[in-house]
Amino acid sequence: MDTRFFVIWMEEITAAVRAGRDHLTRLDAAIGDADHGTNLDRGFAAVAEALAARPPDTPGGVLVLAGSTLIRKVGGASGPLYGTAFRDMGKALGDAADVSAAELASALEAGLAGVRRLGGAEEGDKTMVDALAPAARAMARTVDAGGDPEEAFAAAAAAAEEGAKATVPLVARKGRASYLGARSAGHEDPGAASTALIVGALRAVATRRSPRSESRP
Ligand SMILES: [Mg+2]
Repeated sequence: MDTRFFVIWMEEITAAVRAGRDHLTRLDAAIGDADHGTNLDRGFAAVAEALAARPPDTPGGVLVLAGSTLIRKVGGASGPLYGTAFRDMGKALGDAADVSAAELASALEAGLAGVRRLGGAEEGDKTMVDALAPAARAMARTVDAGGDPEEAFAAAAAAAEEGAKATVPLVARKGRASYLGARSAGHEDPGAASTALIVGALRAVATRRSPRSESRP
């Protein structure tokens, strides 16, 4: 995957977050402060502007610029958390001009590690980690088994969606939703839901670019 791939991934996320904005905000209204959709929408619109204004020349550069923009533009916990995730992914990719699926899987692990370090959440705490951790595992597992990028991203996206849905019955132990205690159960975590959108965008980009998808009706 080259720099262009990562720019298109960011564009796909921007579109997915725009389309999912009201849904994410409704999820956050149930167990948070009803700003997750609008915050991320503003953040990724700023990412698109930053990428257009200062086009990076490496995949890592794209992710570092996205991360630093999110940290600057998105308030609450999600800006620093997503910003750290993208920035640490970008740093993990270094100066490489082209990135393999295995390298991207390792970068995703680095992004997850950054989120855990900053937020202190474990799986089961009803946070974005509940979508990101299974996504990183699924991607690494698929790559290790010899899967191509399209298969690896599809596995990661499915795992993230499953992980997000699995937050519904959980009681939040981190973040604003944890103030609600047992009343946080019965609602999908907004951060896990937006993580599923972000990983799903990766699958969408890879599917569009795949030679296999061109033969589909
Ligand atoms: Mg919020």
